[in-house]
Amino acid sequence: MAGLSASAPLETASGKGPASLTVQGLQAGYRGLEVLHGVDLEIPARAFTALVGPNGAGKTTLLRALAGLIPTSAGSSVLDTDERLTGRSPEYIVQRGVSLVPEGRHVFPRMTVRENLLLGAYLPHARARLKETLAQVTAMFPVLQEKAHLQARALSGGEAQMLAIGRALMSRPRLLMVDEPSLGLAPQVVSAVFQCLHDLPSQGVTVFTVEQNVRAILRLADRGYVLAQGRIVDQGPGTELLDHPEVRKAFLGV
Ligand code: ATP
Repeated sequence: MAGLSASAPLETASGKGPASLTVQGLQAGYRGLEVLHGVDLEIPARAFTALVGPNGAGKTTLLRALAGLIPTSAGSSVLDTDERLTGRSPEYIVQRGVSLVPEGRHVFPRMTVRENLLLGAYLPHARARLKETLAQVTAMFPVLQEKAHLQARALSGGEAQMLAIGRALMSRPRLLMVDEPSLGLAPQVVSAVFQCLHDLPSQGVTVFTVEQNVRAILRLADRGYVLAQGRIVDQGPGTELLDHPEVRKAFLGV
């Protein structure tokens, strides 16, 4: 599996470079169930940030709240220090350059790989640069070019994850959020997918990943956060966080 090519950067979705996101006191959940009890975190521009935590901690709920897919009851998420996204629609948030690759990938199995990719470029600014972006994404993931005319259901799990990431990149995001990219993938494929995510900031896209594969993701992350029971309980540079006694005990069995 190839890494990123040295082609022109993907950045400048809307003439701007990679985005930062500041989350303060965010509370959200589902009808009658508050899951996030005041989450504070900083996703710096042009960095690879990872959030880890046990099952049910609220990781997916946080991504849904940041993408506008569920309402928030308090707190804020602010793009580039001055644009409040909390309370905005999912469509608005995507237009501002924030894309989510959901858990389980959700590619369209009966559409071809190429058709799946083209679907990602539905916003006007992305459509205007479709050819250029398609070339960049397929340079990044050559297998998507090789299998462009196959139905997506013919792809392996790792290839389907690349298609899901590639489709999100077709919208030329400034911040890419990815939910559990390792889910259901073989270990050697996991490291290739993580490496691609790790390399994206150098292409001009900020990355925020939620993961259960704690050791592998924190080795690569510029910054890591630990979410437990709806609250951030630890944070630090990825490799340093791996040495925190609480992290070693809770996630690494040490
Ligand atoms: P996992 O890694 O297992 O997916 P997670 O950290 O992503 O865990 P969430 O999926 O955000 O956790 O779930 C947090 C809590 O919210 C859990 O108690 C879960 O049962 C609950 N929950 C998730 N989705 C819904 C929903 N659609 N309606 C009601 N409760 C939900």
